[in-house]
Amino acid sequence: MTGIERFRLFLKEKGLKFTPERRKIVEEIISFHDHFDVETLYHRLKRKVSLATIYRTLPLLRESGLIREVLRCQGRAVFESVWGHPHHDHLICIVCGKVIEFEDERIEKLQEEVCRKFGFQPVEHRLGIKGYCKECQRKIK
Ligand SMILES: [Zn+2]
Ligand SMILES: [Zn+2]
Ligand SMILES: [Zn+2]
Repeated sequence: MTGIERFRLFLKEKGLKFTPERRKIVEEIISFHDHFDVETLYHRLKRKVSLATIYRTLPLLRESGLIREVLRCQGRAVFESVWGHPHHDHLICIVCGKVIEFEDERIEKLQEEVCRKFGFQPVEHRLGIKGYCKECQRKIK
């Protein structure tokens, strides 16, 4: 099943319409395959879809499991497509908004150990470290 199909079925189950605008949004997100916020998505869609529609559609995309919120930084929510995107964690620059992806086996293992220690069954986790990227550190000095 493609991501688009999955979203269409999700909307159908909720009794919602798969409108051309919603299709444009989901197609863009799947083809883009990078981190985005509402503004970037709005510009990538060349303003063909209203901001209001994007704001209304994002929670649905989240609920359907197609995207996830990476983290919130300076009041801006950063999302990414989950579809065909294996698990990874993030470093985010609080100045320029740059997002760096990383995957570290040791961190993953350590989190599993912590869960085991508390008899906790993990479903998902989101690790995001906020700070200053190399370039922004240079500018600050
Ligand atoms: Zn992780
Ligand atoms: Zn930066
Ligand atoms: Zn990511």
